[in-house]
Amino acid sequence: MTISSRNPRPQTLAVHATLTGTGLHGNQPCTVRLVPADRTMGLVFRHLPSGTEIPVKAKHAGDLALATTLVKDGIRLQTVEHLLSALVGLEIEHLLIEVDAEELPILDGSAGPWISAILQAGVQTLAGRRRFIKITQPVEVRMKDKWIRVSPSNALSLRIRYSIDFNHPAIGHQSRELSLTPDKYRRDIGNARTFCLEEEIDAMRSRGLALGGSLENALVFGPDGPLNDVLRFEDEAVRHKMLDLIGDLALLGAPLAGLVEAHAAGHALHVALAKAILDQPQAWTWEEVPETDASRKLRQPRFSPAFAGTA
Ligand SMILES: [Zn+2]
Repeated sequence: MTISSRNPRPQTLAVHATLTGTGLHGNQPCTVRLVPADRTMGLVFRHLPSGTEIPVKAKHAGDLALATTLVKDGIRLQTVEHLLSALVGLEIEHLLIEVDAEELPILDGSAGPWISAILQAGVQTLAGRRRFIKITQPVEVRMKDKWIRVSPSNALSLRIRYSIDFNHPAIGHQSRELSLTPDKYRRDIGNARTFCLEEEIDAMRSRGLALGGSLENALVFGPDGPLNDVLRFEDEAVRHKMLDLIGDLALLGAPLAGLVEAHAAGHALHVALAKAILDQPQAWTWEEVPETDASRKLRQPRFSPAFAGTA
């Protein structure tokens, strides 16, 4: 019998959670309210000033240059990926996300503050079963020397193998591999901060980007190393790439079971992979955690006590 480590039940939050901050690119204030779902509805943003609702689906993905943007009916919601990463990482797949501006707060540049807010609110199980997109045939997207592919994995696991090569002495080659579980996500991925090179900042600012960026919310690599005091991980850059990928996979609209391998990728390739998977239904099947696994998992707490206590 194959044992899956994936949680079989759909989850939302137990109570609402609110976070406020400013956007990385536009530097405008934004308040986000995470509202528990009363049924399995997926992840849905609601832009309060217009009332526009944007489901988290690949078909709504817009501009992907430096962040993941959702677009619908003329409303753009920018930099959604770190919140989405925390939700996917902690297996919260049904939630209404109310926002009062068009760019989500960057907070400390990682998913850490979102993780804390989610754990503080607590998790609520919904009726029904989680349905996974289980990959049965490889799907690959390439852009020159950058590529990403997904292939079948054991049972319903999501395994991620990511590598980056920066022609910069402070980053260089980094690679990491992980089988995703909520505990591993929180410990190994969620606190890795977004990063850029010091030499890129002037060019970004002249394009009206990164106006809210600072050493408080981004890791900045100068010629001799990070300008920030300390790295949270020696390979924080590749860990943040994995964080972004996990968030972008929310665009599938369902949890993924497969091995994702990526090299030098970014939001554009992550989203291209999600679209390619959805465009190739012959490459995957819908699957649920077998009932025997489901009853076993239900007897276990969602998060280990140590995990919940450090929120
Ligand atoms: Zn990011």
